[in-house]
Amino acid sequence: MDTLSFDIVVIGGGCVGLATAYKINSRYPHLKIAVLEKESRVSAHQTGRNSGVIHSGIYYKPGSYKAKNCVDGRRELVAFAKAYGVQHDICGKVIVATQENELAHMNKVYRNGIANGVEDIRLITAQEIKDIEPYCEGIAGIWVGCTGIIDYAGFTEKLAELLSQKFEGSKVFLNTEAKDFIREGDKIIIKTNRQNFEAKYIVACAGLQSDRIAQKEGTATDTAIVGFRGDYYDLSEMGRSKVKNLIYPVPNPQFPFLGVHFTRMVNGSVECGPNAVFVFKREGYSKTAFSFTDTAAALLYSGTWKFFAKHWRFGLDEYRGAFSKSYFLKRLQKLIPSLTSADIIPGRAGVRAMALSREGNMIDDFKIEVSHNAIHVLNAPSPAATAALAIGNAVQEMATTQFHLS
Ligand SMILES: Cc1cc2nc3c(=O)[nH]c(=O)nc-3n(C[C@H](O)[C@H](O)[C@H](O)COP(=O)(O)OP(=O)(O)OC[C@H]3O[C@@H](n4cnc5c(N)ncnc54)[C@H](O)[C@@H]3O)c2cc1C
Repeated sequence: MDTLSFDIVVIGGGCVGLATAYKINSRYPHLKIAVLEKESRVSAHQTGRNSGVIHSGIYYKPGSYKAKNCVDGRRELVAFAKAYGVQHDICGKVIVATQENELAHMNKVYRNGIANGVEDIRLITAQEIKDIEPYCEGIAGIWVGCTGIIDYAGFTEKLAELLSQKFEGSKVFLNTEAKDFIREGDKIIIKTNRQNFEAKYIVACAGLQSDRIAQKEGTATDTAIVGFRGDYYDLSEMGRSKVKNLIYPVPNPQFPFLGVHFTRMVNGSVECGPNAVFVFKREGYSKTAFSFTDTAAALLYSGTWKFFAKHWRFGLDEYRGAFSKSYFLKRLQKLIPSLTSADIIPGRAGVRAMALSREGNMIDDFKIEVSHNAIHVLNAPSPAATAALAIGNAVQEMATTQFHLS
């Protein structure tokens, strides 16, 4: 079998893998980088199945990697989209409190935004919410002017195109699954379903498979990935008139999800969702998708049971929403009371990769692990699509130090 030789092999053709390869090559154009993607196209999983929102950076704990990389990454993403014609629109959004008991957390989110340096945010009244989104009912809110929408699949395809065009010797290999790793001296042989690859260094950005790639490569991790499916509904033509841009609830501070929201997509459709349902297949997008391997791995991991024990009420609620349209509708009606069952049509789904500790806690921040000739992006949940170029910069800096690149 042929062996192809590269300086760096990046595993994963989502936005994080491609942004990382692009950023390393932008600093070191002479390096030969291969990006391996097991599917027949880039962004087949999280990147191509997300809400399509350019997040502002308002939600995240000041000082966290999420806060810094979201704000920096957003600015870079918008500049990139403008430079390379990726479809996007900085349309702004409202975060809406519908009950008194949400006000304290709403104000905290606002203060986070100020601390994180998020531009164009202000607290708004119930009347101002109505002026922006006439069908939305709330008691107070936040206007976030720098939030937008973007075609993340288009963004990732553009990165793949630039990588091959700008950097001689770098290439994206589709339908190529990294299966095993063998160390030979200071080189790593990556066995795939096609040819073998030989590299001095690897960078893994494998999303829902990131823990498995780390284990196979020999990097110890103290977390495991669990998947949470998010189901969306589309607004019918009639329903679409009730939403202008983006309407979000105040998030529940106990969970790393933003709550079901309304999102205008760049193609003009409006989606609502996603919920957050524990999955029995990491890359399964139907309500009944099941994988024995994925289920066994999740249930044999002590963190999963501890997570269930802590959050069983939340879990049941989300399952109910997944199987009952009327229950899902009720949640949406908190923001738009006039929404009817005829306004929403079942749509697509995505699965979020969340790193879970052995203690049953979801790791909230981005997590990147470094070993002597490998870097593993182990936790890159939302807003990692917004932050992809900033994460790419961070990994490039780690690679510079760790791999002694020059
Ligand atoms: C429902 C949902 C809504 C979201 N909404 C937003 C949003 O609005 N804004 C935002 O900023 N973020 C959002 N996110 C988060 C964001 O989409 C992800 O954080 C981001 O896409 C992660 O990118 P990634 O490249 O790490 O992972 P992925 O896009 O999942 O890419 C990983 C890739 O690795 C490949 N791979 C895995 N194993 C192998 C292997 N062995 N060999 C070769 N290839 C392999 C996979 O096929 C996959 O293509 C959302 C996520 C979901 C699921």
